[in-house]
Amino acid sequence: MNGEGIPLIRRLEQNRGLTREEWAELIRNRDDESAACLFERAREIRIRHYGHDIYIRGLIEFTNYCRNDCYYCGIRKSNANAVRYRLSREEILSCCETGYRLGFRTFVLQGGEDGWYTPKRMAEIISEIRTSWKDCAITLSVGELSRDTYRLWKEAGADRYLLRHETYDPEHYARLHPAGLTAANRQRCLWNLKELGYQVGTGFMVGSPYQTPENLADDMIFLKRLNPQMVGIGPFISHHDTPFAQMPSGTLELTLFMLGLIRLMLPKVLLPATTALGTIAPDGREKGILAGANVVMPNLSPPQVRQNYLLYDNKLCTGDEAAESLKDLDARMQKIGYHLAVNRGDSLNVE
Ligand code: SAH
Repeated sequence: MNGEGIPLIRRLEQNRGLTREEWAELIRNRDDESAACLFERAREIRIRHYGHDIYIRGLIEFTNYCRNDCYYCGIRKSNANAVRYRLSREEILSCCETGYRLGFRTFVLQGGEDGWYTPKRMAEIISEIRTSWKDCAITLSVGELSRDTYRLWKEAGADRYLLRHETYDPEHYARLHPAGLTAANRQRCLWNLKELGYQVGTGFMVGSPYQTPENLADDMIFLKRLNPQMVGIGPFISHHDTPFAQMPSGTLELTLFMLGLIRLMLPKVLLPATTALGTIAPDGREKGILAGANVVMPNLSPPQVRQNYLLYDNKLCTGDEAAESLKDLDARMQKIGYHLAVNRGDSLNVE
């Protein structure tokens, strides 16, 4: 039978949530007909709150040094083949300058967990960006730090923080990370960030090794509880120099389905159509928008380092993915009836 999931989709839209069993059933038994119904509802809700605007964030991947050894990630410490780089303060500021000129009003500073950027050094960079571009939002995405460090950076002028929880279940988490990295600590960081007043983004990889529909159900329930301003999800894509080199990648189809579910559960959330989605299919990001996403994050890193921030194989880093090609990206979005918006793109999802 087709479209079996439609009654659960209707219930989800009404109650903005499901039980763990219902989530797992809906995800496990999904089919094209349920997906079509889901995307239609997700688009309607997205347009109700955000119109046809697509928010943009300029992504500055400022270091690929990392002290961690996540099994899925191409810039893990043990990958001796990674060509390492880190950007100086001046280079980071120059990315912001370029970005501002191009129309970006949010800068996302993302990197590995690189001790070279001490809390103090990082705070200096943040406060310089804050002083130079007062009308911009500053987003950090540099992993798990102490509450005091997060507070220092908030006081220096950071507004937002992206930290994917990766997977809620502690056992599944332990299969993706070496001992020492735990789901509990990751989640503690998120609660700290929230308490400190950051606008928070979290999320997970779709189709990561060993992931079950029950894991995804737990992820949905955790998202509901945390109620973040942003949820970033994308397919797991294997990287040839990691322990997961032979693992199959996540699918476009399941990623789109999860995007639709998140839009129905958290109607006002910021939902990026991620680079990973654009990497597994040439029209992945457009399809993401049509499944309920409303944000894209083009790459603002200096072109010469882009090919080195390789979290997974074939990661997009030129073409419409590049910040310089905003016009082309806008043209692609116009083709499906949407357009890029030049503003900070704050979430409507504030309590
Ligand atoms: N060090 C920062 C930034 C990590 S990179 C942090 O810890 O948050 C940003 C995200 O890329 C990760 O959270 C992860 O979900 C995703 N990622 C890493 N490797 C990936 C892979 N092989 N496939 C898809 N996504 C990946």
